[in-house]
Amino acid sequence: MADTGVFYKKLAMDAKNYLLYLKEIGIEELPVQKTGVGGRGSGVSNKKPQLAAHHPPSLSSLESVREELGDCRRCKLHEQRTNIVFGVGNPKARLVFVGEGPGEDEDLQGEPFIGRAGQLLTKMIEAMGLKRGDAYICNVVKCRPPGNRPPQPDEILTCRPFLEKQIDTIKPEIIVALGTHAAQTLLNTPEKISALRGRFHGYRNNILLMPTFHPSYLLRSPEKKKEVWEDMKTVLAKLGLKVPESKKPV
Ligand code: URA
Repeated sequence: MADTGVFYKKLAMDAKNYLLYLKEIGIEELPVQKTGVGGRGSGVSNKKPQLAAHHPPSLSSLESVREELGDCRRCKLHEQRTNIVFGVGNPKARLVFVGEGPGEDEDLQGEPFIGRAGQLLTKMIEAMGLKRGDAYICNVVKCRPPGNRPPQPDEILTCRPFLEKQIDTIKPEIIVALGTHAAQTLLNTPEKISALRGRFHGYRNNILLMPTFHPSYLLRSPEKKKEVWEDMKTVLAKLGLKVPESKKPV
């Protein structure tokens, strides 16, 4: 009997991990066919849910980047991580947000920017008139640096090719680099975020990059939100989108 319990627990975990994995590669909704019987919540259905096939044909090659990353042990960050935090959102996003590295909440749940800083980022995206799922969100390093210390140069160097492959696959028009580490990594520069922010820089393949302050910094220094909002308005204008009148800056 105990074995059956363990079996079902494992099954539930596998399903959860599979859904997390789909989310990571940009699939947020599963088309499930209405069956007529065994409606929502009854748990009974004779038909298999249409899970867009086991390997949906529409999977973007973000899937192959994720597969290449695998159960990564390329740097020391793997030793203390709970989950690899690959990225979430629209695989064809026009706008990509890149942060520094997962924090505790992100490490536990396998999704970037869901803690306090993440909630502020989500508010910022919504103030821009967008939904979180319209953009793609990821980090420079995919595993949590212990104690939320900044990622170290060897860790950034090891993880960077995966960030570049994510960006090459998505081909966004604009990247917003959140904070020093994202901006310095993507622009290959030692310049400070305060000097970089507020204007577009060229990233590879005709992508524009807007560095701005990290949401964690805004939690400590809310007076800097004004500057970030100016940066986001510049981004919206470049995307040809209007600043929503009804929305207040965060
Ligand atoms: N800070 C980051 O840079 N990334 C996250 O995912 C969360 C907090």
